[in-house]
Amino acid sequence: MIEVTLLGTGSPIPDARRAGPSTLVRAGGQTFLIDCGRGVQQRLTAAGAPANGLSALLLTHLHSDHIADLGDVIISRWVSTFTPEQTPLQIIGPPGTAEVVEHTLKAFGFDIGYRIAHHADLTAPPPVEVHEYTDGEVWNRDGVTIRVAPTDHRPVAPTIGFRVEHADASVVLAGDTVPCESLDQLAAGAGALVHTVIRKDLVDRMPMQRIRDICDYHSSVEEAAETAARAGVGILILTHYVPAIEPGQQEDWRALAASVFDRQIELGDDLLRVEVHPGISAKPAG
Ligand SMILES: [Zn+2]
Ligand SMILES: [Zn+2]
Repeated sequence: MIEVTLLGTGSPIPDARRAGPSTLVRAGGQTFLIDCGRGVQQRLTAAGAPANGLSALLLTHLHSDHIADLGDVIISRWVSTFTPEQTPLQIIGPPGTAEVVEHTLKAFGFDIGYRIAHHADLTAPPPVEVHEYTDGEVWNRDGVTIRVAPTDHRPVAPTIGFRVEHADASVVLAGDTVPCESLDQLAAGAGALVHTVIRKDLVDRMPMQRIRDICDYHSSVEEAAETAARAGVGILILTHYVPAIEPGQQEDWRALAASVFDRQIELGDDLLRVEVHPGISAKPAG
């Protein structure tokens, strides 16, 4: 079984009830954090998955809302790991990730220096290992494999989606993207597809052109549902709601997805947990 927890279902727009985009995937005793938007550590704590227990951090792309708390994840893991030899935090993302991590460590350089000066058992900066990929297998440990494929969020490029597999259960995390062939292939036959969505019908009515601009590089609820239907996935999990789903509106959002995808649809508030069982997708892609 793979367990998916929506840690943050918000977007770049600050929201009192929703943290920024991030998702937790637990598979085969391993814990993966996908993106690390604002407030991710509060949600990790609520989900019982502290930063010092993460197997890897996976980044779909380098938009600020998806990496806002990167420094906090790196520093918190470092100061809350009490074993003498810290294993490096594995960070997997698209090209550009190494530069972002390097600059983040630089930005926290004073803090890192203070802590090394103050604690005798902290003798080196936070250990991190960054791996940049756009395609192929990026993880294969103790029965868990992870594959990535390019997505289409242009002009933001490159961007990637992840497919986590464990014992016949599988989950695909699309990140921000418009529908595209490589995402269809990555998601084909998956147990679940976690997809970010925007309501283009609502966003198009907003008076600010800068907000309306976001319609051309995101999937609408219906487009995400079409991707799920084409790929033949078992469960569609929607997140990163723009605009934020107001109380009482949830069923409107679900109905839009259900108009094109007739299987299980999940959406809701931060910390929504979905179990993805092996063999859940029996439907051939097509
Ligand atoms: Zn984005
Ligand atoms: Zn985003």
